[in-house]
Amino acid sequence: MMQDLFQSPDYYQLDDLLTEEHKVVRTATRDWVKKEVSPIIEDAAQKAEFPKSIIKGLGEIGAFGPYIPVEYGGAGLDQISYGLIMQEIERGDSGVRSTASVQSSLVMYPIWKYGNEAQRKKYLPKLATGEWMGSFGLTEPDHGSNPGGMTTNFKDKGDYYLLNGAKLWISNAPFCDVAVVWAKNEEGRIHGLLVERGMEGFTTPETHNKWSLRASATGELIFQDVKIPKENLLPGKNGLGAPLGCLDSARYGIAWGAIGAAMDCYDTALRYAKERIQFGKPIAAYQLQQKKLAEMITEITKAQLLAYRLGQLKNENRATTAQISMAKRNNVDMAIKIAREARQVLGAMGITGEYSIMRHMMNLESVITYEGTHDIHLLITGMDITGISAFK
Ligand SMILES: Cc1cc2nc3c(=O)[nH]c(=O)nc-3n(C[C@H](O)[C@H](O)[C@H](O)COP(=O)(O)OP(=O)(O)OC[C@H]3O[C@@H](n4cnc5c(N)ncnc54)[C@H](O)[C@@H]3O)c2cc1C
Repeated sequence: MMQDLFQSPDYYQLDDLLTEEHKVVRTATRDWVKKEVSPIIEDAAQKAEFPKSIIKGLGEIGAFGPYIPVEYGGAGLDQISYGLIMQEIERGDSGVRSTASVQSSLVMYPIWKYGNEAQRKKYLPKLATGEWMGSFGLTEPDHGSNPGGMTTNFKDKGDYYLLNGAKLWISNAPFCDVAVVWAKNEEGRIHGLLVERGMEGFTTPETHNKWSLRASATGELIFQDVKIPKENLLPGKNGLGAPLGCLDSARYGIAWGAIGAAMDCYDTALRYAKERIQFGKPIAAYQLQQKKLAEMITEITKAQLLAYRLGQLKNENRATTAQISMAKRNNVDMAIKIAREARQVLGAMGITGEYSIMRHMMNLESVITYEGTHDIHLLITGMDITGISAFK
């Protein structure tokens, strides 16, 4: 990949609204991404390998559990700092952001919110440094948008629970040390279980042949009569609302993350358009290219404002699931459209790994599907404003 020359667009002077802490966190993450992610990410994506060498650094910059209290090893930051970290990491690559999102919002969050003190002390500090990596098993082969239909189940055997079933499309699965697994008990109630690598009957085969999120490892979680110690059940919350609460937190991070991918595509296209000469002029001088670039910065600015306001509401514990859905849906859609337009600004060069745009574009095809599809988030907004569910 060419040298990382990224300059962040801030058309509406949003920096004025950030605290010093927000700016410090963002600068530290941006610098780290330039130094540690940009030089290696294209190669990792081409080889379809998660770059494990960056795990330690992700822990050091506070990307694992940014808002988890310091006493459990987290960074103790607010929700806007969390968002800015996700934005900067996804500016580098959506797959790396996915790893950080899963660890923070889908593994550490449920242990923090629904776990007991012993579970928090055992897992959170190790997850915060990256010494342990986690995964989140909700989706099943036959239950994606409808996770409530899951068939993974556990039975109470007196001394332990017996877990059976399978999860598919699980980020970090191939190398996770612990998986937060959602399964039904004998009454059909959903609970979270902490399943550790090494437990007999638990395997995590990798899913190959992805054209998207190639630098993120995806796999299955398979449970064949796995004996789960009783202390590994998350006691604080059950029912479908428990995993959905985690998704709220992760989707919020994605709403910010997608801005990072879009900013990188826009910044690359703007620089290229000013330098590339055709018919004796930079292509940035032609109205058609200016239209593309002007619409990109307009959409990025709108998305930044949406994310910032949502961050304020999150900080005050007032953000609703439907508000988060709207931001996730809008911002990912915005980013994927910008990636497609930016790719065209670069002509043939846009399809190469010399620039990040094509990788972002392919990555965003997963981001628009996972954590609730584009359609499902629209239905959540529809249900919220009409009071009528159109899911079934
Ligand atoms: C790279 C990657 C990583 C992932 N990581 C994780 C992870 O870590 N943990 C995890 O649990 N899951 C993960 N997922 C799974 C992801 O959350 C699901 O793919 C997603 O929820 C959609 O489910 P599905 O793919 O089965 O699609 P389906 O639910 O089969 O949907 C197919 C299509 O039908 C549409 N549709 C479905 N229901 C309706 C309806 N009621 N009305 C209208 N349209 C509808 C959808 O919008 C979609 O367009 C990951 C997925 C990918 C691609």
